[in-house]
Amino acid sequence: MAYYNREQMAFALDPELRRALAERLHFYNDLGIYDFYRRNPLIRSEAAPEISTPEKKMSDLTSTIASSADPAVALRLIREDIGDCTRCRLHKQGRKQIVFGVGNPSAELMFIGEAPGADEDQQGEPFVGRAGQLLNNMIKAMGIRREDVYIANIIKCRPPNNRTPERDECETCSPFLMRQVEVIGPKAIVALGAVAAKTLLAINAPMSELRGRWYDFRGTKLAVTYHPAFLLRDPRQKKEAWKDLQMVMKELGLKAPEKDPS
Ligand code: URA
Repeated sequence: MAYYNREQMAFALDPELRRALAERLHFYNDLGIYDFYRRNPLIRSEAAPEISTPEKKMSDLTSTIASSADPAVALRLIREDIGDCTRCRLHKQGRKQIVFGVGNPSAELMFIGEAPGADEDQQGEPFVGRAGQLLNNMIKAMGIRREDVYIANIIKCRPPNNRTPERDECETCSPFLMRQVEVIGPKAIVALGAVAAKTLLAINAPMSELRGRWYDFRGTKLAVTYHPAFLLRDPRQKKEAWKDLQMVMKELGLKAPEKDPS
């Protein structure tokens, strides 16, 4: 890592970016964060060249700072960056609020669904409706609690009439999810349903082909299982979903709780 002081960082920045950066640094100072670092630029130069805009520079810097902080603080910073988002059409299509994500900021296991539904939009928390109740039962069957894991969606706003998210909505919103994953650093991710799986893995395949194996998602193990809403419609598939969860439990060294004999 190369360390920079404020004067060095401010050097060569355009005035608009410098002003935005100063504001952001004050915000971090208010949160009690005073030490900042940047990754060595040589590491970046090995990758494909990127187009750098002031917004991109700001977001890179925020990510770097965020990933160096306490995960709970870092998640708050990401939420702060999202703001009262108007980046895609969903902000004017009836969403009540942004549904950011919930759970343990250092969770070993992360579940990623598709998009908030009506209950989630109302309460501001993912998976709180009927599908959420089933997800809670699935988590419990794995021998852990909802509070132990982190739960989020590919997109953070409810699509009208719960329609499937459009590709551009996923592309606009998912970078925030990527930052959440980076901050949380789970040992495993479970993609719930085809939309989550296809968006995260950039593979267009049916669920039957996507399930039953591990994928590498940016260095993190990722498994795919059925979406709880699908399992509510076709409960016979619960057996198959349980196989997927058992694969995850084996990886994380989890044991199903003993059945209550009563
Ligand atoms: N379905 C999802 O994909 N996510 C939720 O948060 C709720 C239902």
